[in-house]
Amino acid sequence: MINLVLFGPPGSGKGTQANKLVEKFNLIHISTGDLFRYEMGNDTPLGREAKSYISKGELVPDEVTIGMLRNKVEAHPDARGFIFDGFPRTIRQAEALDALLAGSSTSVSALVALQVDDEEIVQRIKLRGATSGRPDDSDESIIRNRIDVYKSETTPVFDYYAQSGKSHSVNGVGSIGEIFQRLSDIVGQL
Ligand code: ADP
Repeated sequence: MINLVLFGPPGSGKGTQANKLVEKFNLIHISTGDLFRYEMGNDTPLGREAKSYISKGELVPDEVTIGMLRNKVEAHPDARGFIFDGFPRTIRQAEALDALLAGSSTSVSALVALQVDDEEIVQRIKLRGATSGRPDDSDESIIRNRIDVYKSETTPVFDYYAQSGKSHSVNGVGSIGEIFQRLSDIVGQL
């Protein structure tokens, strides 16, 4: 089984690359951001709770996010593997993911981080905001808060998996095809 954590700051291209990796390596794509947007779109209790954090550029609380992720993984007992996109974003989420996978006698195979600098990210997200309709993409102070949260709460997850030699970094600037090649070179060796 390949269990890939696709990592990187907001707007680094995780969703775009995940869609291509899923096809090439026959994996199930789980994006916690997409799951929250689905719930918000349907105005469910979970969606309403998530919205109060997402609209400020904050993380949704771990217990909510972990429960949602667990349901999604358990819905695919026959998966050949997963791409986790936007999860784990805290050490507690990483520990929960490890425990969940251990329960199926598997584990995280690798974490691959897309590296993109802050100013490029802000420009990309604003451009996306013009067409995505995502309120959290339209306000520069919310975008900068997401980047700050990434640095303080999420980057420790890179170091957490680096301890077991699983963390890799890839240059996230270039054409979609070039970046896909860089990722595929790593995933192909797992
Ligand atoms: P981006 O990577 O561009 O920030 P996402 O779609 O991954 O976009 O996430 C959008 C928002 O959803 C995040 O800013 C956060 O509020 C929330 N979210 C997504 N994944 C998680 C997570 N694992 N833990 C907590 N909150 C999350």
